Amino acid sequence: MPQALLSPDALGPTISVGEILVEIVATSIGEGFRTAQPLIGPYPSGAPAIFIDQCGRLGGRAAMIGAVGDDDFGRVNLDRLSADGVDVSGVAVDGAFPTGSAFVRYRADRTRDFVYNIATSAAARFGWSEAVDALVRQAGHLHVMGTALTLSSAREVIARALPIIKARGGTLSVDPNLRKELRRDAAVEDQFAELLRQADLLLPSGDELARAAGVEDEAAALARLFELGIKEIVLKRGADGASCFGCDGSRIDTAAFLVEEIDPTGAGDCFGGAYVACRRLGMARETALTYAAAAGARNVTIRGPMEGAGTRAELDAFIAATPRR
Ligand code: ATP
Ligand code: MG
Repeated sequence: MPQALLSPDALGPTISVGEILVEIVATSIGEGFRTAQPLIGPYPSGAPAIFIDQCGRLGGRAAMIGAVGDDDFGRVNLDRLSADGVDVSGVAVDGAFPTGSAFVRYRADRTRDFVYNIATSAAARFGWSEAVDALVRQAGHLHVMGTALTLSSAREVIARALPIIKARGGTLSVDPNLRKELRRDAAVEDQFAELLRQADLLLPSGDELARAAGVEDEAAALARLFELGIKEIVLKRGADGASCFGCDGSRIDTAAFLVEEIDPTGAGDCFGGAYVACRRLGMARETALTYAAAAGARNVTIRGPMEGAGTRAELDAFIAATPRR
């Protein structure tokens, strides 16, 4: 039997590090926030948190490292993560700063305007603590979201956690998740390059594949990333589905489910959380891809970034009831 891509669930939880936010969504389509308008929220959010929530909800062992404020926005997140089976012992509660937030409004062309409060919120204020140390020492897998690398706190925890997790046989997955609003300096680029060299699984979407590899052409980009030692790349293509490429030259394409898109935020994070959980639970690539595509598709049918994250039973029902494109 070939060696498994990711460490088994039994080795310890998948750990996700980074921003925990509430999201507040404009209910009308338009440009930004320069006029008073109806909004809905707070929804629990933050790409690393959405990822780990889907992972836990699907039945994978899961734990979150980050911080929230001592306020209702923080409790919205802690309650949701806990309810979905995520260990929140590594989430600090900051007595001084409020929980991070993101206001989102969709434009007619489906792009999004954001107003973030991350860097100056509790979301950015955590570090290596006794609780984090204890969690990392029994972790089985680390997942890194590119968005988290803009936080120096997350960068420090990730850099320290990775060798500990790898030394005990753990594995690493990376979702580049590059957003135009989040700036990346040289230190971030260096750490991102190092993470690529250590990653077992890469989960890019759209042009993130070319950006991660530094070459445009899809085949050339894949070849360059496999040269670094990455074993598997799952390319997310939104409503066009996803493709899984193995370093042995294998390829599996999966069609997207046919759904009405209400809110695309969080699709990639749910896809990733489901894929990692399924692989760590021992499922074959095809099965894991089906659950991941279902998790992404189901999530876009419901307003709110993680409101559509599904349990295994919910995803089974969704798969049975939903045609593919
Ligand atoms: P995010 O905005 O969360 O970062 P992403 O760009 O990382 O998203 P997408 O490619 O948008 O990721 O979505 C991930 C997966 O979810 C897709 O590969 C697809 O399987 C599923 N998905 C996303 N949008 C749709 C849709 N409109 N219809 C069906 N499936 C979808
Ligand atoms: Mg993404």
